[in-house]
Amino acid sequence: MTMNQCKHFDQIHPTEPRTPTGCEECLKTGGQWVHLRLCLSCGHVGCCDNSPSKHATAHFHGTHHPIIHSFEPGEDWGWCYVDQQFFEPMPTFGLETLAHP
Ligand SMILES: [Zn+2]
Ligand SMILES: [Zn+2]
Ligand SMILES: [Zn+2]
Repeated sequence: MTMNQCKHFDQIHPTEPRTPTGCEECLKTGGQWVHLRLCLSCGHVGCCDNSPSKHATAHFHGTHHPIIHSFEPGEDWGWCYVDQQFFEPMPTFGLETLAHP
C-alpha cells in the first residue's frame, strides 16, 4: 500500500445520491448505461466510461468535482480524477449511506 497522496478528500461530503435509480442524464434522455458512479461532492450519479455517454467523466469536466465512488452493489472503490488515483477500499469518512445503493 502506498500512502494516500490525494488532497481532495476535503472536497467530498456525506451526500445522498440524487438519482438512486440510475444515471441522471441518461434518465432524462432515455440513454443507457453500463455501470454507475457516484460523485462524492454533490451526489450526482453518472454512467461509467464503458457507457456510451460517459456522464460521470463529463460531470467531472463540467464541475471539477474530483472524487467518485462506485455505485455498483458490493463495490467499494473510489477514484480521484485529478490525481488519477484509485482507492480500494474507499475511505468513506462517515459516508455510510454508500453501503445502501
Ligand atoms: Zn485527489
Ligand atoms: Zn449517463
Ligand atoms: Zn458532483
